[in-house]
Amino acid sequence: MRTLSLTLLTSLLPVVASSQTTPTEIAAAADVLAQIEALEQRIDPSAMSARIVGRNDAARSALMAYAGTAWDADMQALSDHIGRDPEVGWAEFRAVDTLVSVLRSRGFSIEVGVADLPTAFVATWVSSAGPAGPTLGLIGEYDALRDIDGAFHGDQHNAQTPIAIAVASALQHYMESSRVAGTIKVFGTPAEEVGPPAKTIMHDAGVFDGTDILVRSHSSVETARGRAGFGVCCLNINEVKYVFSGRPAHQLTSWNGRNALSAAVRFYSSVDGLRSTFRPEASIQGVIPEGGVAPNVVPARAVVDYYIRYPDEVYLAHMTRMIDDAARGAALATGTEVTIDRYGEYRDGITLGTLDELYFAYAKELGAPRINEVPQRPAGYEETGWVTRDIPGVGVSVFSSRETYHTKGMESDGLSEVGHRAFRLDAQIMSGILYDYLTNASLREAVAEEHKELKGLMGEYHQRLREVYAPEIGPGVGAER
Ligand SMILES: [Zn+2]
Repeated sequence: MRTLSLTLLTSLLPVVASSQTTPTEIAAAADVLAQIEALEQRIDPSAMSARIVGRNDAARSALMAYAGTAWDADMQALSDHIGRDPEVGWAEFRAVDTLVSVLRSRGFSIEVGVADLPTAFVATWVSSAGPAGPTLGLIGEYDALRDIDGAFHGDQHNAQTPIAIAVASALQHYMESSRVAGTIKVFGTPAEEVGPPAKTIMHDAGVFDGTDILVRSHSSVETARGRAGFGVCCLNINEVKYVFSGRPAHQLTSWNGRNALSAAVRFYSSVDGLRSTFRPEASIQGVIPEGGVAPNVVPARAVVDYYIRYPDEVYLAHMTRMIDDAARGAALATGTEVTIDRYGEYRDGITLGTLDELYFAYAKELGAPRINEVPQRPAGYEETGWVTRDIPGVGVSVFSSRETYHTKGMESDGLSEVGHRAFRLDAQIMSGILYDYLTNASLREAVAEEHKELKGLMGEYHQRLREVYAPEIGPGVGAER
């Protein structure tokens, strides 16, 4: 999922340097943006990246060439193989079987089903020089999209793990031949396109713990990098199921029952009634996927499933609290009970100038096509935002399709020269970045410093938002995690 739906909205705003979309956010962020600006001037990531990429380094050149050769040798064929055998999220069993057998044959130890997700895996390799060095992480996805005529790889996720394996192979070769200590982990992350958010679940289960850096590739309609800061591609989202439990009875003796469907309908209407009390950027969409089994039985169970979205997470917490209260009110009014299951959360992610500028410098150096020099809004390197808050990382995405995301055109470009060339470049760029991270202590320090500072500034920004909203929504809202 990579959406540019807010491009129009943001292009209308005067504050080009921000990822904040509402007037409230922009006002609250003013101080914080100035501090981000000062931080970036101090670190100067583009100058640093130019120095790193411009350096003559035979070992690095050999490693990046190795990644390209590894792609050509069999990873391109593996990418096409997965591309022609699409499986939707949570059902990527054949892809996982194939990918883990390839990783096992390359010396990785494999754990499938991590975080109780059947199609999630971690592949781990430790250098024979020991584990003392950094732990380098690669994220690989493999889920396809659902269309009326079946599954298809319209977001090119088929290429992601083969790219990661090409990178891992190049690093293994370098680390073994040069006796460099460290660990490589390939994280197989399922179901990017559907909820609940797999990476959040894996992160909460501690799967990414101990990883120093995470790198991920993705399809792209241009070669661009993010601006340093925090933000999100689309909106902050809570995915919430409200499960109403009543008591079944025959409708002819309905006084013995408690009607869960009545509670759900009452709740659904209450949420519609709330819409005008929310700020205009709010987006709330819901369905009633369960509402009973037969007309002559009082429904004992009904489910309402909502996506609640807002540009910032503080106001989102306020909306969610009011909607939760509406559900409790509907339960009280009908003598039923409600269980609130917040099964998915997407939040602002952190984008680091140190790593995004390094990616971009490599992309230009290697002649990546369709370079867009304008830095994009920061959105982190993975779609849930949570992982980016704890582990520094970067998303590498060289132009790989002439057609937009989630289309048959993007799928066919992924299986032909346009995609193949991009994926090979992705593999080489990712190898270069991880080599630099592994061998360059001052880069590691700059990455750690920038990540720590931006995380602190994100906390400050949320505190500012809480203060600004307080007269309207009350104090302390949105400080949940
Ligand atoms: Zn995607």
